[in-house]
Amino acid sequence: MQQTKTGENISSVLLALSAMQLWLLFSFSVASALPEQNDPFAAKRHVMIERDIKGRNIKDPAVLKAMEKIPRHLFVDKQLQDQAYEDYPLPIGAEQTISQPYMVALMTQSLGLRKEDKVLEIGTGSGYQAAVLAEIVQQVYSVEIIKTLAVRAEELLKSMGYRTIKIKTGDGYQGWKEYAPYDAILVTCAVGSIPPALTAQLKEGGRIILPRGDTRFLQLLVLGVKKNGTIEQKSISTVRFVPMVGEAQGTGRSSE
Ligand code: SAH
Repeated sequence: MQQTKTGENISSVLLALSAMQLWLLFSFSVASALPEQNDPFAAKRHVMIERDIKGRNIKDPAVLKAMEKIPRHLFVDKQLQDQAYEDYPLPIGAEQTISQPYMVALMTQSLGLRKEDKVLEIGTGSGYQAAVLAEIVQQVYSVEIIKTLAVRAEELLKSMGYRTIKIKTGDGYQGWKEYAPYDAILVTCAVGSIPPALTAQLKEGGRIILPRGDTRFLQLLVLGVKKNGTIEQKSISTVRFVPMVGEAQGTGRSSE
């Protein structure tokens, strides 16, 4: 009798101990799936990755890793931070938007980037897309026509420790000749056709992705590859982006 009781006691202690071990193991594995434990948005970001990015067939491990890491909420105003991990664009001032996370993932994945690539982005906006690129490739150049946005993005990215992103205020219709040629070009504003300067600044075999078409309505997301000096294009989906202003529209708009 006594024997059995002691046996029971021992086994219940053992049971409690293994339950505790299991719990510790579980909480550890949850913790390691969520980087930056002190980031109050880490859990939301993880949900976004699972639901809107992996859940919509984005598979490139480098893209997933970058977007899991980058605190997207820092790229929007405080009062919008709660929505930073929802799958839609958000205003960033000057009538511009930070693109929807899925679109950032799709465009980045489509370029098939390699670590050693040099990438040009047209339309810095908040700087979020540039950060995603900088997590994946060696060097990122980004051109933004609205000076206030370019300056703000540059300061934010610097404060976050990004050293491989160069930003300039200017009309991206002309690309950024100084650092050409590029392995890949990503355009985040809609334009009727591929600007000749971008074709010229793309390496042979390089990839370009852009929303192409009538800038007032929907556009086609187009992926191009440069072959024998011209761009072979294929469309990926229908999208809606803000228009490329300046020379693309023949308005000669200034940079304020
Ligand atoms: N990539 C950005 C989203 C940008 S929205 C992000 O991650 O937040 C498109 C941006 O293109 C806007 O900031 C707009 O000002 C900019 N833009 C429009 N026309 C441009 C041009 N001709 N040259 C450079 N940038 C331009």
